[in-house]
Amino acid sequence: MNDNQLLRYSRHILLPQIAYEGQELLTQSHALIVGAGGLGAPSALYIAAGGVGTLTVCDFDVVDLTNLQRQIIHTTQSVGINKAVSAKQTLQAINPEVVVNTVQEKSTEAAMSKLVKDADVVLDCSDNFATRYSLNRLCFEHQKPLVSGAAIGFEGQVTVYDFRHPQSPCYHCLFPDDGSETDMRCSENGVFSPLVGMIGTTQAAEAMKLLMNIGTSLQGRLMLLDALNMEWRTIKLSKDPACKVCAG
Ligand SMILES: [Zn+2]
Repeated sequence: MNDNQLLRYSRHILLPQIAYEGQELLTQSHALIVGAGGLGAPSALYIAAGGVGTLTVCDFDVVDLTNLQRQIIHTTQSVGINKAVSAKQTLQAINPEVVVNTVQEKSTEAAMSKLVKDADVVLDCSDNFATRYSLNRLCFEHQKPLVSGAAIGFEGQVTVYDFRHPQSPCYHCLFPDDGSETDMRCSENGVFSPLVGMIGTTQAAEAMKLLMNIGTSLQGRLMLLDALNMEWRTIKLSKDPACKVCAG
């Protein structure tokens, strides 16, 4: 790290749990953020500001006026621009020290597999089951930790599937894919603006802890937030011995 980086990250380096070594780990790390919407926006902002060296941001959608109530990485001037490109502009303005790659098209399974393989941590900030199941399979295959978040209305949930641990459950253990799921998207439903910030920043915190290997992650625990009554609940998760993705 150069002098500017030492200053920029000094409030991390002052933390004994992070220190120079932890910050160095972050600068050498690569985070894949799938979705630059409500969850991806705060996740990416903190991950870039906090000094994760390389970010890959995927989103094929363009910024719409209805996004701006909660997707705080985008500005009024970004309306009509691809979300990954708009996110990159904001991230580079905050921290030109980090490399931001953008994926602006819908990825094929093979392309997404390569993206997952190249990353050290994957953040699922998507809004649909197809992407969630696909990321879960690929993270299991490549043994990459997956930080999963979801938010709708006033309710959110967040957990970590850390496939480096053989006892870790996966997304499919929790939500078996029987083809009956219907997407509940913010694009079609209401969502409380700060809720996505609370879930997204929790994802950023978990991702950065995983990259530095500090503290205790949410692996095996699902945190559920009821923001209307401001209550967090934690559910213990276990592996489904019959899971089609991770069992056997
Ligand atoms: Zn599973």
